[in-house]
Amino acid sequence: MRRNTAVVLGGSVAGLCAAGVLARHFDEVIVLERDRLPADAQHRRGVPQSKHPHFLLNSGRRAIGEIFPGFEEALIAAGGMHLMPSMDAAYCENDGWAPRKSGSMTMVYSSRVLIERILRDKVREVPAIEIREGVTVTGLRSTGGGTARGRVEGVEFRTADGDGHLPADLVVDALGRGSSVVDWLRADGWTAPPERTLDAKVTYTSRWYDLPPADRRPETWWWKHLVVTPAQDTGDHPAEHEFLSNIFPIEGDRVIVCMGSWGIEMPRKVEAFEAAADRVRAPLFGRAARACTPTSEVHLTRSTGNKWRRFDLLDVPPVGLVCIGDAICAFNPFYAQGMSSASRSALILDAMLRERDALDLAFFREFLARQKKSLDVPWMLAMARDQAYDFATGTEVVAAWRRRLAARLSWPIFNAINAASREDAYVEQTFAKVFNLDKSLKEMAKDPRFWFGIARYKLRQRLGRTVVPGGFDDRQEPPGTDFTGYTGAASTRTAQRGDDLVGA
Ligand SMILES: Cc1cc2nc3c(=O)[nH]c(=O)nc-3n(C[C@H](O)[C@H](O)[C@H](O)COP(=O)(O)OP(=O)(O)OC[C@H]3O[C@@H](n4cnc5c(N)ncnc54)[C@H](O)[C@@H]3O)c2cc1C
Repeated sequence: MRRNTAVVLGGSVAGLCAAGVLARHFDEVIVLERDRLPADAQHRRGVPQSKHPHFLLNSGRRAIGEIFPGFEEALIAAGGMHLMPSMDAAYCENDGWAPRKSGSMTMVYSSRVLIERILRDKVREVPAIEIREGVTVTGLRSTGGGTARGRVEGVEFRTADGDGHLPADLVVDALGRGSSVVDWLRADGWTAPPERTLDAKVTYTSRWYDLPPADRRPETWWWKHLVVTPAQDTGDHPAEHEFLSNIFPIEGDRVIVCMGSWGIEMPRKVEAFEAAADRVRAPLFGRAARACTPTSEVHLTRSTGNKWRRFDLLDVPPVGLVCIGDAICAFNPFYAQGMSSASRSALILDAMLRERDALDLAFFREFLARQKKSLDVPWMLAMARDQAYDFATGTEVVAAWRRRLAARLSWPIFNAINAASREDAYVEQTFAKVFNLDKSLKEMAKDPRFWFGIARYKLRQRLGRTVVPGGFDDRQEPPGTDFTGYTGAASTRTAQRGDDLVGA
C-alpha cells in the first residue's frame, strides 16, 4: 500500500537507512538535516564521531546492502577494503600476539565519512527521497498527547529563511544521541519513555595518518590492522597498558591511530598522544604510529555511554513516530554496534510497512516489540563487560557482587573463547556470529556444542595436546606465519618468535 509523506529527522546513517526503506512505501520521503552535506567523504559538525574508527559489523553490512543494493561494491570501489581480520589483523591478546590464520569472518574497512558518502550517493538515486539541508528540526506537532487517540502529525523546523512546519503520515526520529524528541513529546502531554543507561566512562582519542609507502615498510609489517587489547592483570604497569588500541586502516592508504579506555584520562594533545602510543603494551604500536605521517589533530570523545529510550515500555506509545539509530539506543562504541543496530531497525520498519496497512496504535506497538527484540542483542553484549566497572554510572549499575563476578569472569571467558577458536571452527564461527549480532549472547550461552568446544580445548591444553601455538612475545613483531591447517607437533608451548614456527 502506498502512503503519502514520511519525514525523517536527521540525515546520517540511521536517517538515510530509514529513508531508503520508506521510499518503498511512501510517495514522498523528506529528510531534514541541519548540516550542509559535503559532496565527498568529509567530516561535518553533526557527526563528530566520524573522526574515530567505525567498524561495520556483518549484520549491518548485510542490512545496508538489503536497503541499498550495491552498497558494498560502491564502498569497495571508493577505496573500502575487504579484509579477513584473523589473517589481515595482528591481534595482541592478553598472553601476546595471536596466531594468524584463516577464519570465518570478513569485514569491510573504511572511514565513517566514506560509509556516509556512499549512503548519500545511494539515497540520491532514489527519486522519492528529498534531502533538505540546513534545516534544524525544532519540535513535533501532535494531537491528543498520551492518549490512545493521540498522534504525531508533523514537525517544526527552522531554516535561514525562518520557521516552518511539515505535516507527515509518519515521522522518523534519527537525530542521534542528542535527539530532543522526548522533550518535545513531553511538552505535548506524552509520557516520556523510561531510560536505561550505563556509562562506563569510555573515552576515545584518535588521530589520522598517512601510511608510509608499501616499499618503505619493513617486511614484518604484513598486517593491515593492528589491535592491542587491554592488559588484564592489575599489576604495576603504565595506564596505557589498559588501553584498547587500534591502528585502523581506511581508504587512501591511511590509518586512524586510536586509543580507548574504560575510565582512564586520555591524551588530547599531540605530544601526549604520541607519548601514550609509545607506552602501549606492544611497543610495535608506538613504532608503527611514528612511521606514519600525521594528517590531523588529536580528536577526543567521551560521548559513549549506553542509553536506551524504552518506548516499548510505554502503555501508549506515540502513534506516527518511530525512533531509530542512536536516537533510541546508543551504545559504548567499543562493540561497534551503532550503525548495524540502526540499519537493522530500518529493516524492521520495512517489514512492518509491507505487512500492515494501517499506521495505528497496534502498528507502533508491534514495531516497538520487534525493535526491542533486535536491540536486546547488542544491548546485552554491551552490558556484559560495562557492568563490571565500579565507576560506571546509570540505571543498569548492578550490585557489587555482580560487578565483581563480571570483572572476574568476562576476560577469562573471552580468553578461553579466543584460544579455543584457534582449533575449533564451531567456537570460532559462533563467536563471530555473536560479535556481528547474528546470534545473541543468550543463544551462545545456551549452546552446548559451543561450551563443549571450549571445555575440550581446555582439556587438550592441560594434556599438552593443542596444536596451534599462541601467546607470541608482545615485545617482538607479530609473527606473519599463516597457521591455517597447521598440524605441527602437539604442543602448548608459548613461542617466543613467529620465526620459530616456519614450516607451519
Ligand atoms: C567514538 C565513537 C566510535 C564509534 N564507532 C562505531 C563503530 O565502530 N561501529 C558502529 O557501528 N558504530 C560506531 N559508533 C556509533 C555510531 O557513530 C552511531 O551509532 C551512528 O552514527 C548512529 O547514527 P545516527 O544516524 O543514529 O546518529 P548520528 O550519526 O549522530 O546522526 C544524527 C544526525 O542528525 C542531525 N541532527 C541533529 N540534530 C538535528 C536537528 N535538530 N535538526 C536537524 N538535524 C539534526 C545531525 O547533523 C546528524 O546528521 C561510534 C560512536 C562513537 C561516538
